[in-house]
Amino acid sequence: MTTDGAGAIPGHRTGERLGIFGGTFDPPHVGHLVTAVNVRHELSLDRVLLVVADQPWQKVGTRDISPAGDRFAMVEAAVGDVDGLEASRIELDRGGMSYTADTLSELLAADPTRRLHVILGSDAAVGLPGWERADEVRALSTIVVVERPGSGEGLPPPGWSWVRVEVPRLEVSSTDLRARVADGRPLDYLLSPAVIDTIERLGLYRAPVAR
Ligand code: ATP
Ligand code: MG
Repeated sequence: MTTDGAGAIPGHRTGERLGIFGGTFDPPHVGHLVTAVNVRHELSLDRVLLVVADQPWQKVGTRDISPAGDRFAMVEAAVGDVDGLEASRIELDRGGMSYTADTLSELLAADPTRRLHVILGSDAAVGLPGWERADEVRALSTIVVVERPGSGEGLPPPGWSWVRVEVPRLEVSSTDLRARVADGRPLDYLLSPAVIDTIERLGLYRAPVAR
């Protein structure tokens, strides 16, 4: 179910099929994980990287963002040993504003045979044309959109080619989870136990948060 003609022909694989699922992941939740696992399966991706933004340019200045190292620790905990999912430090190591165009270029520079798939929820898809060097993102990757319930009918704008993948729809957000921690409400089944432990260990989200 791809538009890039990269169907798996035994013995004719032309390069690693890689998913790039970027986010602030503050914290990473069941909606992220269910998306990553199911897109990997549906598109026969070798790996899906959960790419932790160093400085998420869309959010900087809008609220306090947890330190990048803490967000990375949570994503590592979330991924655990799930087959084919990986926490990626690529944007942390580069530092500064995290632009997907730079990440795609870096991944292709390391291995030009890779086939990159940028995965995003419908709320993020509507904003694609406003991304830094959006044309590069479009040229270097297949855009994969999953519907995010509660976010309206967001789709990439006309002229963009993209693939839609159906995944179980979970109306979960990091914003709600930060508020849950601050209010002492239950986190179980919305976050993996290892992420709950990491939040407790790092003392994150205890102060009342902006919703
Ligand atoms: P916040 O509430 O802080 O914005 P978030 O839950 O939206 O957090 P992000 O880190 O902003 O999480 O999102 C990263 C990516 O994951 C985006 O492409 C977003 O659309 C997608 N995403 C987030 N939550 C879901 C969900 N429940 N279902 C599908 N996609 C999701
Ligand atoms: Mg978001």
